[in-house]
Amino acid sequence: MTPIKPGTFAYESPALAVQALAERLSPVGIESAEWDQAAGHILAEAVVADRPSPPCDVSAMDGYAVRLEDLCLGRLPVAGEVTAGKEPPALPPGTVLRIFTGAPIPPGCDAVIAREDVQELPDTVVLPDAFALEPGRHIRRRGENGQAGETVVRPGTAVSSAVAGALAAFGISRPKVYRRVRVAILVTGNEVHEVRADVRPWQIRDSNGPVLAAMLSPLAFVELQSPRHASDDPAALRAAVEEMAGVADALLLTGGVSMGNYDFVPEVLRSLGCEIVFHKLPIRPGKPVLGAVGRQGQAILGLPGNPVSALITARRIAVPVLRRLAGCSVVQVPRPLVRLRDTVGKPAGLFRYRLVRWNTAGEAEDVPSLGSGDLISAARSDGFVEVPPDAKDGDLLPYFSWSAADG
Ligand code: AMP
Ligand code: MG
Repeated sequence: MTPIKPGTFAYESPALAVQALAERLSPVGIESAEWDQAAGHILAEAVVADRPSPPCDVSAMDGYAVRLEDLCLGRLPVAGEVTAGKEPPALPPGTVLRIFTGAPIPPGCDAVIAREDVQELPDTVVLPDAFALEPGRHIRRRGENGQAGETVVRPGTAVSSAVAGALAAFGISRPKVYRRVRVAILVTGNEVHEVRADVRPWQIRDSNGPVLAAMLSPLAFVELQSPRHASDDPAALRAAVEEMAGVADALLLTGGVSMGNYDFVPEVLRSLGCEIVFHKLPIRPGKPVLGAVGRQGQAILGLPGNPVSALITARRIAVPVLRRLAGCSVVQVPRPLVRLRDTVGKPAGLFRYRLVRWNTAGEAEDVPSLGSGDLISAARSDGFVEVPPDAKDGDLLPYFSWSAADG
């Protein structure tokens, strides 16, 4: 392992930098959501079972409700039916009741015979010779999934489709959730123009604003404001940042964060009294990235202007920081792990990001890239892999897809 030179970077890894920034931030406020609007929002309360699951004993099969002591009779008349959604009739001794999946178990019944295990005659069932059943066969017991009062889902969890099901099953019609995180985007650079602009060869179309909007708009816990642009001028930049800080919980800036003469973002943030938590991390691409906390506790990220650096630092650093503001209990979600060919690489001492694409064999393969300006390679990739400085060939490495919805 090549140690990171002490004193070079405030944090030795992107994970530690994210953690340090997240620790200085607090989640946004809480509100109630309608159950049918809650998908993707972050729960601010636990989902607690209001009754046992299932709420009564139910049949797991289509078949016949029986008393075990009647099985010796071999042939049993069908006394009636038990259907789902109705209070069950009692099972008369010496008979069976036809029962359907999900229907409540009638009093007196201690097992269900599957339909396919008997011969069905009109109004009678015939059991195979020496037919035996253990008590409780094909019965789902009241409370076997969970008891009333049990915590089903903890606060800080996103409402997935499965969680939405639990909310409904336990009668939570207006769950408490964190309100959406207001995110403002500021793209900087004199050379940067809007996508519809008629650009000259020395001008470029803004790709970072669209990158951030596309990455964040699918997140239900984000309320995105329209991306804005500022020129490389400290006064203009300062005015834009102040205005955005008045209305947003998080400010994402791109460009102007390196060491060039026109890179005013760090000094403007300092002049506004922001706490710079990190500026430059041992990562490539994305090294100039800056993380700060605004005067009113806003998360502020200065992402490098290079298109691939902006993409990667947004995904690797900004998304987890936004999760913290959103109230997620897990800020840095454990990643799927993949192996790459030729893991060891240059330069030593940095976390390197490698663009990958999934092939038809289900393996992540490299997408060759010319570096932080090569948006064409990035657009042909599905995401990237983070290779730590001490990685060895064959190591399992964390994968980040371009979709931020998986954390
Ligand atoms: P900067 O970080 O401002 O020094 O920008 C680094 C490089 O990224 C320069 O080549 C910029 O032209 C380019 N760049 C900056 N902002 C954007 C943007 N919004 N869209 C596309 N490229 C950009
Ligand atoms: Mg610039």
